[in-house]
Amino acid sequence: MITASLTPKKQSASSKSENLLEVHNLKTYYPVKGGFFRRTIGNVKAVDNISFEIKRGDTLGLVGESGCGKSTAGRTILRLLTPTEGEIFFEGKNITRQSGRNLREIRKDMQMVFQDPYASLNPMQMVGDIIAEPIYNFYKRSKSELKQIVMDLLDKVGLPSDAYYKYAHEFSGGQRQRIAIARSLALRPKLIIADEPVSALDVSVQSQVLNLLKDLQQEFELTFLFIAHDLSIVKHMSDRIGVMYLGNIVELADKSNLYTKPLHPYTQALISAIPSPDPRMKKNRIILTGDIPSPINPPSGCPFHPRCPAAMEDCSINKPVLKEVKASHLVACHLY
Ligand code: SF4
Repeated sequence: MITASLTPKKQSASSKSENLLEVHNLKTYYPVKGGFFRRTIGNVKAVDNISFEIKRGDTLGLVGESGCGKSTAGRTILRLLTPTEGEIFFEGKNITRQSGRNLREIRKDMQMVFQDPYASLNPMQMVGDIIAEPIYNFYKRSKSELKQIVMDLLDKVGLPSDAYYKYAHEFSGGQRQRIAIARSLALRPKLIIADEPVSALDVSVQSQVLNLLKDLQQEFELTFLFIAHDLSIVKHMSDRIGVMYLGNIVELADKSNLYTKPLHPYTQALISAIPSPDPRMKKNRIILTGDIPSPINPPSGCPFHPRCPAAMEDCSINKPVLKEVKASHLVACHLY
């Protein structure tokens, strides 16, 4: 049961080292209909066989160009989308096919912060009601208790108490995202899936919201799946990072290894494109040619081979599997 106080519960040392979330061979395909009888004539392979785990209290960053399937992966894990294949384990429990009341219970522990704080908040509700709604839906609380919890949450996310009586349109983009974060914390979740949470915000407020998320992670002992296309932001937020390309994870490693010794040619190209803070430092930028191929008809073999500067003959025939090539460093590439 949620308590009126927002003081986080302490976890034991052993529970901190276990996996909160495990994803095994997850696929999410969207059927493509066509013809007179609207038969399924193909599939958009938005997520195509990804596996990873997140330790309790850690942040896994998922990064890649738009359309690579990272947001679909987040939504599938939260069960907003139905997985086509694979399994999702939350706290050791297989939640892949849960539905109805069971799924509703699980959703208390898994919340999402969406990209667009303009679209994700109900313009007809006062901020206090927006934040209180999930608590009201799950727990019987008196009006005064609900108000106290919401006031505490507003304080935690750095908003004044009079925000309670205002509407979302009265706030700036950064403040709206703070409201969305407060709502995501209302049920005291264990996992937060943050899908591009700052990409709709001005650069000047991005770091404030990111630092707020980091502070709240410490205070509420949260685990994050942090989805973004900006590698600098993912680096700032994550412990481990998975690089996605065309529905696949092509590299998965600790942040320091991924940024200092990227192995996959796609990761190397992405990292070479990060601007250096020192303009005197010369970087060898790897320019990728061509666009991401369509996930309806992905290339044979390695999905990256049409754009890969290191492609070999085998690359267009056999698909490389993600495998560990160094301690805790996995890569899907025939070079290794
Ligand atoms: Fe490039 Fe081949 Fe490695 Fe794919 S498998 S990334 S095409 S070298």
